[in-house]
Amino acid sequence: MSYNSSTNNDSSVSVVGDTSWINWFVGLRGKEFLCRVPNDYIRDKFNLTGLETSVVNFNRTFNLITEPEFNTDIWKHLCESVAEDAAKLYGLVHARYIVTMRGMNDMCLKYHRGDFGVCPRIFCSRNGKGQHVLPIGRFDYYSQSHVKIYCPCCKDIYHPRSRCGMLDGAMFGTSFPHMFFMQFPEFRPEEPKESYTPRLYGFKLHMSALNSLHTLPEASEKSTSNKSTPKSSVRRPTGRRLTYK
Ligand SMILES: [Zn+2]
Repeated sequence: MSYNSSTNNDSSVSVVGDTSWINWFVGLRGKEFLCRVPNDYIRDKFNLTGLETSVVNFNRTFNLITEPEFNTDIWKHLCESVAEDAAKLYGLVHARYIVTMRGMNDMCLKYHRGDFGVCPRIFCSRNGKGQHVLPIGRFDYYSQSHVKIYCPCCKDIYHPRSRCGMLDGAMFGTSFPHMFFMQFPEFRPEEPKESYTPRLYGFKLHMSALNSLHTLPEASEKSTSNKSTPKSSVRRPTGRRLTYK
């Protein structure tokens, strides 16, 4: 992963005059899902409990990400493992921060602005607008899976379409969206009223027609035949073309 990418000038997380590593990092392209963790939160040792062994050189990495005056020229000459450790430590602290009241307020702004995208499911749209989603991890451990998006309408998870899809899921954790809607129940959308109905030339398809597409003939025969009937005597229904081999 390259950390020398250009900064995202559209990002609202930029703080004028702030030349810290955090401000630089969250302004990179592909990091738009991340919010800016305040320095005082990171510097509070209590919030870092248990993270001391998460990176090879914790003290060096901690000093890097809390650097108030960050120099990108020096950063370019650091090896990639140092950059990855810094991203990992920041990500793990970020996962803790976004489930605090302050963190949820920060993420709430991004949620309403649609920074995390919308649900790809058609029936989650309202008045022509897509349902906003929240980022979620499938695991709380780093390097297990990339970030996913959670739709509060259909309550399912999807791959993000944005370039943020390469972020590690542990930067958000498995609990964040559920904690968010417990904190802000008023933002919980209504359950979808419609669902997709498969049709053939305008006619609804019977369930048996849908099932037969996915059922092997052996399984189909087993379910329809009498248990006492020998397998060799089962007759296939005539008039239907069986395409399975
Ligand atoms: Zn949805």
